[in-house]
Amino acid sequence: MIKENLQKIKQSIPENVTLVAVSKTKPIADIQEAYNAGQRIFGENKIQEMVDKYEALPKDIKWHMIGHLQSNKVKYMAHFVDLIHGVDKLKTLKGINKQAKKHNRVINCLLQVKIAKEETKFGFSFEEIESILSSEEITALENIKIVGFMGMATFTDNQKQLQEEFSSLKKLFDTLKTQNSSLKILSMGMSGDYSLAISKGSTMIRVGSSIFGHRNYN
Ligand SMILES: *Cc1c(COP(=O)(O)O)cnc(C)c1O
Repeated sequence: MIKENLQKIKQSIPENVTLVAVSKTKPIADIQEAYNAGQRIFGENKIQEMVDKYEALPKDIKWHMIGHLQSNKVKYMAHFVDLIHGVDKLKTLKGINKQAKKHNRVINCLLQVKIAKEETKFGFSFEEIESILSSEEITALENIKIVGFMGMATFTDNQKQLQEEFSSLKKLFDTLKTQNSSLKILSMGMSGDYSLAISKGSTMIRVGSSIFGHRNYN
């Protein structure tokens, strides 16, 4: 089923949209199956779990960290992580920079922007994003590169609200892109809302359950 699910999604999205297969909680065998079907980008939300999978699986996989970061564990993934989606603190950016430097790498990061109305969602406010991107303290960090934004919409069926949340982030992205040519990725959309997110300008979707089936936790 994993192969068929992947094919169905790939066929339904534009070519310029990148699919991150969210494999959190799923076993190695499932990821291998998706890999055999051609998928190369996988997303995990726990560092230790991602490290274990990285070690067990083919080395041409690109691993994306999509979860809320535990700063003290960044060091375990600094040598291989391809993109970190959920950066929502300056301190975390500095921590990633420090670990990346040890491996002589530049780690690509997305700033998480709070677009949902729920209190529980992490992320910077729109005002904070603007000030971070122009702050000398951040531009001085040579071992990280801010390549775009990540947003998570409210958990709701209200299409109008989802549209507004996605559109607001797209607007911010377009505005700041004119001043900052490194901004290329807009990560928004999950199993339930990726079509809508793409119609509102997403360039990268994070899809788990529609590929691997539902999860019992997380
Ligand atoms: C789990 C997760 C996803 C994937 O969710 P699905 O609804 O299973 O597609 C996407 N993004 C983040 C940040 C997640 O934690």
